[in-house]
Amino acid sequence: MNFFDKLRDIRTKIAEVENNIYAGKQDYLEIYERNLQLEKEIAERTRELNTANKRMLTLQHILDMMSSAKPLNSVLESIVNSIKGELGYLHSTIIRKENDENGDYISVIAEAKDEAIDRVNEIIKVPMQARRLVYSPDSIYAEALNEKKIVRTKDLRKALYGIIPDMEDEMKEKVLSGMTSRSLNIIPLYTRGKAFGWFCVFSSREDLAEAELDFLSMFAQQIEIAITIADLFEEVKQQAVTDGLTGLYNRRYFEEYLAKEVTRSRRSGQPFSIIGLDLDFLKQINDKYGHTSGDIAIKAVAGVLKSNARAIDTAARMGGEEFNVVLPGVSSEGAMIAAERIRKAIEDLELDTIGHITASIGVATFLEHSDNIEEVLELTDQAMYLSKKNGRNRVTLARPVNETSWQEIAVNTFTDILSRHNMPIPQELADNLCEKLKANSSQKEILYSVADILTLTYNPLHSQGVVKSKLLTAVSLAKRFDLSKDEIDKLKIAILLYDIGNVMLPREILQKATPLTEDEIAKIKAHPLIAAKEILSPISYIQDIIPIIEHHHENWDGTGYPGKIAREEIPLSSQIILIVDAYYALTEQRAYRSKLSPREALDEIRKDAGKKWNENLVREFVALIEHDID
Ligand code: GH3
Ligand code: MG
Repeated sequence: MNFFDKLRDIRTKIAEVENNIYAGKQDYLEIYERNLQLEKEIAERTRELNTANKRMLTLQHILDMMSSAKPLNSVLESIVNSIKGELGYLHSTIIRKENDENGDYISVIAEAKDEAIDRVNEIIKVPMQARRLVYSPDSIYAEALNEKKIVRTKDLRKALYGIIPDMEDEMKEKVLSGMTSRSLNIIPLYTRGKAFGWFCVFSSREDLAEAELDFLSMFAQQIEIAITIADLFEEVKQQAVTDGLTGLYNRRYFEEYLAKEVTRSRRSGQPFSIIGLDLDFLKQINDKYGHTSGDIAIKAVAGVLKSNARAIDTAARMGGEEFNVVLPGVSSEGAMIAAERIRKAIEDLELDTIGHITASIGVATFLEHSDNIEEVLELTDQAMYLSKKNGRNRVTLARPVNETSWQEIAVNTFTDILSRHNMPIPQELADNLCEKLKANSSQKEILYSVADILTLTYNPLHSQGVVKSKLLTAVSLAKRFDLSKDEIDKLKIAILLYDIGNVMLPREILQKATPLTEDEIAKIKAHPLIAAKEILSPISYIQDIIPIIEHHHENWDGTGYPGKIAREEIPLSSQIILIVDAYYALTEQRAYRSKLSPREALDEIRKDAGKKWNENLVREFVALIEHDID
């Protein structure tokens, strides 16, 4: 094989690599993940190629770059260095067309290290690589790029003056006078179809032989491939989902995955647990046996996590010596067993040199400890630190969040009042609702559904879903008034329960299409009291919610009932319920009137500003609803 045949052979091989890389992003990821294996093969092939042709080192550079992820500039630097001295080229450089807010310019991104450039740098003080060079659209550089052809010039003066106009002429003349080059060959470079820059080769000959032109353009193609691959690998690295050292998922993937798991868990009502693990005394291992041993310890932990995980578990290295495992569908109880198994397996490892290692573990469960994932992660972390504090090499379950969640209180309240059977609803319905509550106690939706069903027993025109809307609206409104989390939790429960007294009212009154008698009005007005006193007062743990419900018919000007209290005397949560209730009543069909549109309902509410409700409350409420209408 002659030299050019070999070149062609190499090109074919590079084209194969290139094709592989273009075969789709998924393939890029795979290539990246299979890097090690690929590297071996490539090293083998590179060795052959090297011995076959010393001139053609480019492939090795590219492959080096693929496996070591060296910055592009240093790869290109070694490429230009490899052409040094070949075929009489004195100096070569790769320059790039760049663009910023001041327009196009050129920067030197790689320069062969040789006497020629040393001499120039000495003269010009500020090295070429540190300069912003001028890109002119009528320069030979533009011509090469636009016409996609090699441009050769003997006029080195013009080439130099064109890109550094602001340098002192004296300096430029000095550079030129010492130059042994006779011509400058400018080869345009493209990457993925886009203009990149130029490969510039200074030659001691004025004219180039056809074969040399071939050689230069092939060389330029190698550079283009190097640039393209560097770009692609940069992208692939960005997309990588695994951690290089352990092969576990990385933090980025973990976070994306966790967000999906949260959605899944909310939808299904199934909890999931997080095991958080931190290696004990890694710093000591590093100090005593070296960083490589530290890495071995980290890999050993990863190995335990992999071998202990079920197919659906996700183990990730969060960084450093910190790991998380997600166990879908597993409660705290199950997660504690899994965590203990992992702890034991780590303790049982027998590592060369290091010997035994241990880890401290924390466990928390989504939907059990909290339905806020940030809180669950925080609790996992706290539990892990507790394990450290208590002597390491142990598993700690996150401590329960102090207060029981509002959801649990609401579920218990409904269950209690329904199982007492002191409301005039069919026993079968009460039992059925109790069962549903029991089976789905972790889901908010069950609460809305029970409240909807209870409302339907006295208001057949009630639409499903309204309770949830009321609750969400009330919470949004409460947030505009900076109510604390504790108060908002009480408000949520109050929203579910405030009308429960209606269950006790004679149906005929509620569904009457004719005006009510005095007597009937009195009965209706008493309903919040009935609710608060008769139904809720036997339930010890919601006593602080009763006043909110009791006053949800008080008006701002004191004309409401039952207390006839006014202004700030009225609990803010009661006022919120009053306005939210009014709005949803107006937009719902009633036996005695048709429903209003949201805007009509807001108009009605505005009419009573300062009377039924505080003006400020109306303003915020209108803003809130209008925001949703828009
Ligand atoms: P503790 O039991 O309290 O967790 O002690 P520790 O030494 O494990 O924890 P500390 O946070 O004091 O130090 C963690 C050390 O882990 C410091 C850091 O240099 C080292 N480390 C982090 N990532 C790596 C890694 O990838 N490889 C190695 N070998 N060491 C790492
Ligand atoms: Mg540690």
